Parts: sequence; C-alpha cells; structure tokens
Amino acid sequence: MSTRISIIVPVYNELDSLHRLSSSLGDIMRISGESYEILYVDDGSTDGSGPYLEALASRDPRTKLVQFSRNFGQTAALAAGFDYAEGDIVISTDADMQNDPADIPAILAKLQEGYDVVSCWRRNRQDPWLTRVLPSKLANWIISHVSGVRLHDYGCTLKGYRRNIIRHIRLYGEMHRFIPIYASWAGAKVGEIQVRHHPRLGGRSKYGLSRIYKVILDLITVKMLGGYDQADVLFRGRRLDGMRRRSPLRHLDALGQVCQRRQSS
Ligand code: UDP
Ligand code: MG
Repeated sequence: MSTRISIIVPVYNELDSLHRLSSSLGDIMRISGESYEILYVDDGSTDGSGPYLEALASRDPRTKLVQFSRNFGQTAALAAGFDYAEGDIVISTDADMQNDPADIPAILAKLQEGYDVVSCWRRNRQDPWLTRVLPSKLANWIISHVSGVRLHDYGCTLKGYRRNIIRHIRLYGEMHRFIPIYASWAGAKVGEIQVRHHPRLGGRSKYGLSRIYKVILDLITVKMLGGYDQADVLFRGRRLDGMRRRSPLRHLDALGQVCQRRQSS
C-alpha cells in the first residue's frame, strides 16, 4: 500500500521527549486509519537521540530515520525530510512535544477541505512572554505585512502540506517558516487553524533572540528574490537569466504550474 501521510520530525538533542512523542504520534496515526510513515531527521544530536531513533526505526517499518553527520539546523533537517517523504500529504512537527500530535487530525481535515498548505497558530503559546512570545508577535506582524500573506504564527513547525507544493521549494537559512508565503505567491490555497501548545518539559530550546535577526534578514531576501521571480514571470520575453539562477524561489514557476493544474482539474 502506498504511503498517504508523511510526518516529518526534526530532532536535535531531544532524548527526553522521544519516547512520549513516538508513542503519541503512533497512537494518533493508527487511529486515523491512514497509511503513514514517521520520518525523523536527526540533526547531529549528541545526547543519544540518534541511537534511540535507530532502535525505534529497526523495530517499526513505518518509522524512518535520516541522520546528519553534524548539526545543520532546523531548516536543513526539514528540507531533508521533505526530500525523503513519500506521502501525498506531509506534516511537520517539533520533537519536543510543545506541538501536540492530537492536532494532526484537524490539519488533515483542513487539507481535505481543499487547502494546499495549513499553517498552525499557537494562540495560547507556552513560552516566556518577554523573550519569545512578544518578539514572535512582532516578527509575525512584520512578515505578514511585508509578504502580504496574513498569518498569525509563521514560526510554528506544526504545518501540513500537499507534497506537490513542497516538492518545488528549495530552503535556505531559516526559510522553512516562509513556505506558506512561497506557496501563496504561486497561487496555492493557504489556510490557518488554531492549535494547542505546551511548555517544554525536557531538553532546552535551541534558539535565542538572535533568531529574530536571521528571520528578518531571510524575509528581506525572500521579498527581493520573490520580486525578481515575479518580474521574470511578467516580462518573460526579456528573461533575466542570471538573476533567476541565483534565486531560491526559482521553482516558483513550477510551483505555480502545479497550483494551476490543481485548479483546472
Ligand atoms: N531543531 C533541529 N535543529 C536545530 C535546532 C532545532 O532539528 O538546529 C529541532 C528541535 O529539536 C525541535 C524543533 O527543531 O524539534 C524546534 O526547536 P526548539 O524546540 O528548540 O524551538 P522553539 O520551540 O524553542 O522555538
Ligand atoms: Mg520547542
């Protein structure tokens, strides 16, 4: 039977939560009745997460593992997961159980309604207010206004996608957050649902305030290069090939065609 749903989990030193996470994801997916795989991407963990996940994958054929030789960052881990995913539907989620696997059925239901991307909003976010919640609110406001794609919570890893959509996107820097923007620019239908959020119970957050700076720099890049791509689409007769080859959004055309095909079918 072909795999319908791929769950992608980036993991960097999350041994404390992997037992709870794997059993919770397994329970939820078994109840869904769908064919699925759970694809962990070990992003160079040094706390024993790697061997734990290897043992898990050797016991359960639906659990798969990609292992990085060192820490490359969450965006690279998600990109590798997207590359290996076999399902028609791909759901990404954090490994630390701050996202709740119990929200996965609501994402599937929203995709079933016809959305191509479902972004999740941690409305009642359980992180320190001054150093995490407030900067994130500001960043979300800026990203929404700069991109023109209004979402409350770009930073939530829990998201659902049709695989056609992510197949054409190449990710750099901190750019996994911006997938709903690329998708929306290419004509995809992007929806949002509210989800639960829990305090981190084990391990440590991998991020500090410096992330905001990187995210804003990436946003500027996305906006500028997205502009070039859109200009290229408009002035196709006078294609700016050099500029286009450098653009991380060079697949926007292909992605646009996927969206058009879906709309006309
Ligand atoms: N993560 C990763 N590589 C990194 C940093 C984080 O794979 O270099 C994973 C991490 O294990 C978790 C998710 O990305 O599953 C989100 O990280 P974290 O919980 O530290 O972020 P926060 O919730 O504090 O924003
Ligand atoms: Mg977390």
